[in-house]
Amino acid sequence: MQVQYDSSINTEVLKDKKIVVIGYGSQGYAHSNNLKDSGFDVKVALRKGSKTFSKLEHSNLPSAELEEAVKDADLVMLLLPDENQPDVYRQYLEPHLKPGASLGFAHGFNIHFNQIKPREDLNVFMVAPKGPGHTVRSTYTEGSGVPCLVAVHQDVTGDTKELAYAYASAIGGGRAGVIETSFKEETETDLFGEQAVLCGGVTALVQAGFETLTEAGYSPEMAYFECLHELKLIVDLMYEGGINTMRYSISNTAEYGDLTRGNRLITDDTKQAMKSILSEIQSGQFAKEYVDDCRNNYQKLHQLRDSHSKHQIETVGEKLRDMMPWIKKKPLVDQAIN
Ligand code: NAD
Ligand code: MG
Ligand code: MG
Ligand code: MG
Ligand code: MG
Ligand code: MG
Repeated sequence: MQVQYDSSINTEVLKDKKIVVIGYGSQGYAHSNNLKDSGFDVKVALRKGSKTFSKLEHSNLPSAELEEAVKDADLVMLLLPDENQPDVYRQYLEPHLKPGASLGFAHGFNIHFNQIKPREDLNVFMVAPKGPGHTVRSTYTEGSGVPCLVAVHQDVTGDTKELAYAYASAIGGGRAGVIETSFKEETETDLFGEQAVLCGGVTALVQAGFETLTEAGYSPEMAYFECLHELKLIVDLMYEGGINTMRYSISNTAEYGDLTRGNRLITDDTKQAMKSILSEIQSGQFAKEYVDDCRNNYQKLHQLRDSHSKHQIETVGEKLRDMMPWIKKKPLVDQAIN
């Protein structure tokens, strides 16, 4: 697998392009501001009547309503929640994009699962940062970046791959590394990572640990510090130097406990469960379940979000974090209301 950096990426192909970023949420905020600061011609497109217009007035980013912005765009980056993209594509992009224009995604879901079938005269590419939007912006301003995956689904003008690399570089990805993949590989691995490890796996592990301690009579504050707060310190070490560095840094006692107990939790059964989660992703079963729930007004998502948000680990955590005001950064939503 080849990793490309700014030194080998030519951004010339993006120089004369009118870029339109649709949406000003987590990714939209980061992409548009990074593109602007990298010197490219970028405009943010929003829904008619969107409250975000007033916020953009005070920035140096031009903005316009969707239909209007899209007409003379050379490159449109679609940065809305995945489940809202198909409607917006059908209503605003399909009828108005000029032939030979380029359509970009930050995740392969809609293309891979056939929720959007782009017009054949469009270039279709992906630049997927491997990190949250807010990090894409903060690392850029600090002089670094978030690694990006790029892929091409349709190439009409013959330079779509070059364009994808240039876009990745313009948002800061070329400082950290840009890797070529396919829509299929990005979609399936991204969904698996968030379900089995990063989000689903980690939150379930943290909650179960917290419950085990509190049910055994230990205080919720102790349980919070042990099972949630300290996680960041461990993950930071893994991020810096892999699992080896983390194990080097912890005490021998901790390391012995880690090496002898970890695989009693993550057993062959757990791995079997991971495999079945992966096959639900590959077969499209997960995508169908999710799309159905979106169409059903997110009934399941809202109900689960609501019940999990009331878990004791949240209430005790809120209290403890108030005592550590340095932890709290400015609210993430501050940059993303619409
Ligand atoms: P988001 O949830 O932050 O929302 C984007 C914006 O779209 C919001 O400001 C919202 O008001 C607006 N919006 C919603 N529906 C709309 C509509 N119908 N018309 C116009 N505007 C509408 O989105 P996000 O998390 O930035 O995700 C954007 C894309 O980036 C997705 O494809 C996602 O998979 C991908 N992605 C996200 C992250 C991340 O960190 N959030 C990371 C990698 C890839
Ligand atoms: Mg969200
Ligand atoms: Mg991801
Ligand atoms: Mg994802
Ligand atoms: Mg300890
Ligand atoms: Mg050690």
